[in-house]
Amino acid sequence: MRTSFITDSLQQLADQGRYRSLREVSSSQGREIVLNGQRVLNFCSNNYLGLADDERIKQAAIKAIESDGFGSGASRLVCGNMSAHEALENELAALKKTESCLVFSSGYMANTGVISALVGRDDIVFSDKLNHASIVDGIILSRAQMKRYTHLDMQSLEDGLKAAPAHHKKLIVTDSVFSMDGDVAPLKEIVGLARRYDAMVMVDEAHGFGVLGPNGAGLVEELGLTDEIDVHMGTLSKAAGCFGAYVCGTKQLREYLINHSRSFIYTTAMPPALAQAAREAIAIIKSEPQLRKNLKTNVEYLRASLKELVDATNSLQTPIIPIILKSDERALQASRKLLEAGVFVQAIRPPTVPPNTARLRVTLMATHTTADIDQLIEALRKI
Ligand SMILES: *Cc1c(COP(=O)(O)O)cnc(C)c1O
Repeated sequence: MRTSFITDSLQQLADQGRYRSLREVSSSQGREIVLNGQRVLNFCSNNYLGLADDERIKQAAIKAIESDGFGSGASRLVCGNMSAHEALENELAALKKTESCLVFSSGYMANTGVISALVGRDDIVFSDKLNHASIVDGIILSRAQMKRYTHLDMQSLEDGLKAAPAHHKKLIVTDSVFSMDGDVAPLKEIVGLARRYDAMVMVDEAHGFGVLGPNGAGLVEELGLTDEIDVHMGTLSKAAGCFGAYVCGTKQLREYLINHSRSFIYTTAMPPALAQAAREAIAIIKSEPQLRKNLKTNVEYLRASLKELVDATNSLQTPIIPIILKSDERALQASRKLLEAGVFVQAIRPPTVPPNTARLRVTLMATHTTADIDQLIEALRKI
């Protein structure tokens, strides 16, 4: 009786076609993986540059484990702040062209910790309706008022800003590249509105970092808006192929977060080998624009081949290509059929995406070959 709600909830999810379960990967994370024992082409990871199993990053981690051990022993503020963390932060700040950087254990923790440190009960956060769940959770945790504006709609954002009382702190927060749609935020317009209404701007570059911009620093770099953004957040877990996250900005922002951000203060520092691995990833991102070029070539090839299936309005060609099938059941069935053809594309269903927008979320990697993409296209055509 005490736990019957668990059974009931699971049954309800199953009835709705929303039951989620784990599949097991028994290989490294390449363009090809072994999924539940079957070798398949992988078209749903965020490992955009193929760095998750890069030999140089592996060696950097191994070397670091041999010199520094594995655990970091304590939080950064107690005795866990090691040379590798400081070096990683300096290199990230240099790549992002900001004064400074603070590393968090994950993107989820960065978003919850930063937003809840920057705003509080009397403040207002303006958040794109399709922002990532970790942003939403950060706003809830902050107790600030959450004003969700229509996806990418600057009129909707401005209406909210206009209505906000002047004496409240205001924060506009947006994904740079939206994780489930692959479209991008109109950052220039957002920055303009922020100036006009005296609001801070925070950008989540989880899917922009390593992928966009001449040096791979993200959409903000691509648009030349580095100095206009107050808080640059991104993860090391996607294109960088590692784990952890960064928050870049002024020196004072870093000091403020060290003193106020609970997900930074009350958690153990990331293992130093992870920081060393991320340093290697950043060096690769900086020095190998060819990886971004390969990715772009793959994206253009697939988008051109799927013209009738995908929304072509997105001028910035990101590696996230959703194929909207609306019903949960159709998305699941399509994903199952693709898997039979040796192609893995996960079905994405509510609540990750809005109701009636279940989809196949295809993502490309720099390491996919033309033959891989042709196999995907053929499998998609069949269904
Ligand atoms: C993945 C993701 C995060 C969370 O990052 P993790 O490092 O995986 O915790 C935050 N924001 C967006 C937009 C993401 O896609």
